[in-house]
Amino acid sequence: MPTTGSTALALLPWLLLGVLALALTLGLRLTRDARHRRPRSHTTPAAAALEPLERSLLETRVPLFRRIPPTLRPELERRIRAWLTQIEVVGCGGLEVADEMRLVIAAQACITTLGLEATAFERLHGVMLYPDEFWVEEEDVDETTGVVTEGGRALSGQTLETDRIVLSWRDVEDGALRQDGYNVVVHEVVHYLDHMAGGRASAQGGALAEEYQQLCDAVDRGEETLIDPYGAEDPTEFLAVSAELFFEQPRRLRRQHPALYATLCEAFRLDPANWPPPMSTPCPG
Ligand SMILES: [Zn+2]
Repeated sequence: MPTTGSTALALLPWLLLGVLALALTLGLRLTRDARHRRPRSHTTPAAAALEPLERSLLETRVPLFRRIPPTLRPELERRIRAWLTQIEVVGCGGLEVADEMRLVIAAQACITTLGLEATAFERLHGVMLYPDEFWVEEEDVDETTGVVTEGGRALSGQTLETDRIVLSWRDVEDGALRQDGYNVVVHEVVHYLDHMAGGRASAQGGALAEEYQQLCDAVDRGEETLIDPYGAEDPTEFLAVSAELFFEQPRRLRRQHPALYATLCEAFRLDPANWPPPMSTPCPG
């Protein structure tokens, strides 16, 4: 369980940034296989922006992309271009990965890290993409008896340390279109960042811990909550589901959980509740 304390809130901005930088500097080795990485380009600032067709596809398929303020657009587009050249997306379960799939994933991943260092994905080996939910074998250990039960569950996303993100395309596509606070790409990218920070991003005190406890209590009482009850699983999931709301429904989150919203603003170095309304697409007549 996370600790509480007023100083922790002040320290939180370091978690996804300073600690991330430290993890990079120390070169945490958490990869699971020896596959060679593709050469990394560090020319993000000079990389080409998106083609008009790519931009219009994102404006249609990823409403969140439309909400990015004009001042942040050039940097976002450069990062998306860099992601597309650096991060490999591998089709699994018979899925053939199309360019638009790569683009929709890249845009959401880069929006999540837009306020962070451009090297945020440097340690990510790649993305595995299934057509739909995928099955993961798991062992369940009874804490009292120690009895191990073999089992498994269907997942829409999973993050394997800092190595790989696994996604269900159907959930990526649905999550991008609906602005309902469910976004599997944001969720898994936040897990990835948390892994980069050695788990310290989600294990901090301050508003994050207080709000986590409040969610646990509300779920125990059977109350309806704005934050997905899945966040009561543990602080790691709480950070991930809170981030989904932060990006998809920032004003609701700020209104109902101002301290949590402020904490996430500092952590992600973005203030999406204050982004101006997106420019509407001109329609004839
Ligand atoms: Zn999760």
